[in-house]
Amino acid sequence: MITELVSVGTEILLGNIVNTNSAYLSEKCAQLGLSVYYQTVVGDNEERMKATIRTALDRSDIVILTGGLGPTEDDLTKEVTAEVMGIPLVEDPHSRELLEAYMEQYKNNNSQRRITANNYKQAMVPQGALVLDNHNGTAPGLIIEKDGKTAILLPGPPNEMKPMFEEEVFPYLRRKQPEIIYSQMIKICSIGESQVADEIRDLIENQTNPTIAPYAKTGEVHLRITAKAENEKDCRKLIKPVVHELKGRFGKNIFSTDEKKTLEEAVIDMLKDQGLTLALAESCTGGAVASRIVNVPGASEVFGHGFVTYSNRAKRKFLGVKKSTLKTHGAVSEKCAKEMAKGGCFVAKSDICLSITGIAGPGGGTEEKPVGTVFMGCCYNDKVIVREFHFTGNRMKIREQTTAHALAFLRECMLEGVTRKE
Ligand code: ATP
Ligand code: MG
Repeated sequence: MITELVSVGTEILLGNIVNTNSAYLSEKCAQLGLSVYYQTVVGDNEERMKATIRTALDRSDIVILTGGLGPTEDDLTKEVTAEVMGIPLVEDPHSRELLEAYMEQYKNNNSQRRITANNYKQAMVPQGALVLDNHNGTAPGLIIEKDGKTAILLPGPPNEMKPMFEEEVFPYLRRKQPEIIYSQMIKICSIGESQVADEIRDLIENQTNPTIAPYAKTGEVHLRITAKAENEKDCRKLIKPVVHELKGRFGKNIFSTDEKKTLEEAVIDMLKDQGLTLALAESCTGGAVASRIVNVPGASEVFGHGFVTYSNRAKRKFLGVKKSTLKTHGAVSEKCAKEMAKGGCFVAKSDICLSITGIAGPGGGTEEKPVGTVFMGCCYNDKVIVREFHFTGNRMKIREQTTAHALAFLRECMLEGVTRKE
C-alpha cells in the first residue's frame, strides 16, 4: 500500500527542529511492509496544507500526518484534513472527558493554569473517526477512513507520537497490511560501487520480490536484499537463493552478512580467529585507523601498537625508516611505506603491520604525486606488499577514504594467509 508521511510545522521548514518523526515513521512503515513513496513537510498555513493533503490523498492509500493537533490557532491539521475529506467535525464526549481530567491535573500542579475555549477544540473530531487516546498529552490522535483512503493524524511531540503509534496505529496498520518486509544485508569491500552495480545489473533489472538495493559507504558497498511475504520464514525462503547468488559473485569481498557488523569488527574477528597480532604505522591518517580498530571491544587481544609517525624524524626514530629513503624517495613513497611497515612489525614484534603514508592536502601535492596519493604497506610472512592509491576530495574526505581502504587492504592481505611468528 502506498503511504505518504506529511510533517506539519513551519519550524521544520525553518530548520529549527529536525524532522525525526518522519525517520521514525518511515522505519516503522518499512517494517510493516508499507511502501513509503513520499515524505512531505508543510508549514502551518491553511492553503498550502489543503493542497498538500489533497495531493497526498490523491496519490497514496495511507497518509500519516504529524503535528498541528494542539489547541492553538495555528494548529490546523485536523480541521484542514476533515475539510479536504469532506467530513464535519463533531464533539467526542470521551475526548472531552479525558481533556478535562488532564487539565484538572495540570491545574492542581499549577494554580494559574485554566482551561480555555481553545482547549475544547481538541475534543472536536471528524465524524466517524477512530479516536486514539493520548496518554502523554492532550491532543488525541485520529484515524479517518473514507473512499478507500486513510488519514492518520498524530501529535507532533515525539514523546506523544511514538507511544500512540506503537500502541494503536501499528496494530491497526498490521491488520490492514498483513504482509511484512524482511531484509538481509550483504557488506562488500575492496571493490567500488560502480563495479558492484555492474556485476548485479541483470539481477536488479529483473527483480520483483525480493529486491536488491545497493548503498555506497566510504570504502564499502552494502547490498540490502528485501523480501515481502506473510511471515519472516517465507521472506527468508525468498531471500536465500539471492544471497547464495551474490555470495557466488562477490566471494571473499563480502566481509559480513550481518547488518550491524562493521569492517573493523570483521578485521578484528579475522585476527582473533587466526591468533594474529597487529601493529599500525600511520602518517597521514594520524591514528584514524587505530581509532577505528579500538572501536571494537576486545581489540586489545590483537592490537598492541599504533605508531603515529607524522614527521620524517618520527619515521626514522620509531620505525627505522632510512634517511636515504626519505631523501631520495620522500616520505610519500613506496619505499617509505615499505620501511614503515617493516619497522613497525619489528618494533612491535607483531605478526602484521600496516603502514600508511600519503598527501591529504590541500597543499603538498606535486605533478608526480598529486594530493590524494597514498602508499600503504602491509608486512607479514617476512615480506611487505605495497599498494598505491589515489583518492580525491578535500583533506577530510581523503583521510576518511584512506582509513576505510586501509582496513580493506589489511583484510585482503590476511585473506592470503598470514603465518604466526613464534
Ligand atoms: P502541541 O499540542 O504541543 O502543540 P502539536 O501536535 O500541535 O502539539 P506541533 O505544534 O506541530 O504539534 O509541534 C509541537 C512540538 O513537537 C514541536 O515544537 C517539536 O518539538 C515537536 N515536533 C513536531 N513535529 C515534529 C517532527 N516532525 N519531528 C520531530 N519533532 C517534532
Ligand atoms: Mg502545536
